[in-house]
Amino acid sequence: MGEVKSSPPVRPWLADHPSQFLLLERAVEDEYRPRMLQELQRRVDALAESARGSSPACAGCGQQMVCQDVRPVSWLARFGRLRTRVARYRCPACHGECRPLLDLLGVEPGRISGSLARLLALLAVVAPYPLAARLAGLLLGVTISPMGVWRVAQRLGQAAASYSDGLSQYHADSRGEGAPTQAAPATVLLSVDGCSLGMQVRARRRRQTGAERLPPLPALEEGHFREVKTGVLLLPQERVETSPGRRSVVRRFLVSCLGDADAIFHRLYAQLRELGWLGANTMVVIVGDGAEWIWNRATWFIQRCEILDFWHALEHAWDFAHLRYGEGSQQADQWVHQIACDLKAGKVQQVITRLKRLRPQSPQLRESLDSLIHYYSENANRMHYDEYLRLGYGIGSGAVESAHKQVVHARLRQAGMRWSEAGARRLLALRLLLLNDNWSLLDRLRMDSIV
Ligand SMILES: [Zn+2]
Repeated sequence: MGEVKSSPPVRPWLADHPSQFLLLERAVEDEYRPRMLQELQRRVDALAESARGSSPACAGCGQQMVCQDVRPVSWLARFGRLRTRVARYRCPACHGECRPLLDLLGVEPGRISGSLARLLALLAVVAPYPLAARLAGLLLGVTISPMGVWRVAQRLGQAAASYSDGLSQYHADSRGEGAPTQAAPATVLLSVDGCSLGMQVRARRRRQTGAERLPPLPALEEGHFREVKTGVLLLPQERVETSPGRRSVVRRFLVSCLGDADAIFHRLYAQLRELGWLGANTMVVIVGDGAEWIWNRATWFIQRCEILDFWHALEHAWDFAHLRYGEGSQQADQWVHQIACDLKAGKVQQVITRLKRLRPQSPQLRESLDSLIHYYSENANRMHYDEYLRLGYGIGSGAVESAHKQVVHARLRQAGMRWSEAGARRLLALRLLLLNDNWSLLDRLRMDSIV
């Protein structure tokens, strides 16, 4: 420590006040926020006035509906709480009810609505709920609990998830119309991958009562994981080489779901149709690891090229090399390096022939070698790497692995996180909107009520 020196430590400098400019900014904001609310209220009143008086026809049977009552309704928005009086109509024949003014405004009684709801959901998509609530205070000047942010994210997330489900179903039917395909690309790259997500063991949320602390979460057991599958779509010609050997992707579309293999492929298919990327002559290049579920569904695409991810192919070679030469040995390095060079040169058959000539000394080695030979023989038709490189298809699934990290790991796989099925599904749907630069879609979705 510096205690031998004579002069005492000096506190780092801190100004007595925020800068004048900061004070001006905040003063204007404080002054104008109530005026914004006033003006917004005035416009809501005007809209309510213009909608008054005309009784709607029943959506069910077409009969003229009758006004039942008019009640005060309020909701929370960006600049504060808004209020209006809302008429409720009832159909005398089928007893259906509606409140046309609320439908017109697109707000929900008593709830956070409009742009504030979307901004809170945006925070929840990038940060855990308690942090999102704190960000809401700092960025928006809004006081809200983590639970409040959670609720908004659930409602908008449900809307986004339902929309995406609906789109999948729509395009799964051949009568569903996609975007025009005149400008469809010659080649589309599709890669898929899966990772596991820790799920909640209990069926209900733990509730805090009084000051009592919540009991700790039980340890995760086997089987309390669900696989999240992610797929990436991109155009090979849009990949640019930023530095030799390093490709960065300009545009890519991510698809993700907590579901089975069919679900992710339905989503990928729907996204291709939405983009107009699946023309009559479009070649779909599918990159995957050895997983059967990928190749079984790849056959949905008539014009396709299947590629076994190059790094997965090498991983299997490493397994055998480590067993034969020892982990970290130079011989193992050299042996795998040779295989990598040969595979890149398109010599997969020569590699298999060479492997078959080996005479392993132990049963364990024999087993490992047989499995490697089997893996390469099974996938030989997906290992023409020289050709894929020449055609510009690429040979690795790096795009999907990094996408996976962005979609899932960065928000849903932080330390100790567990998810309910619905919670994960909703947050994934919102996260995809953000990462696909499609967030504004949320402006056109109605919040779903959740139970
Ligand atoms: Zn009716």
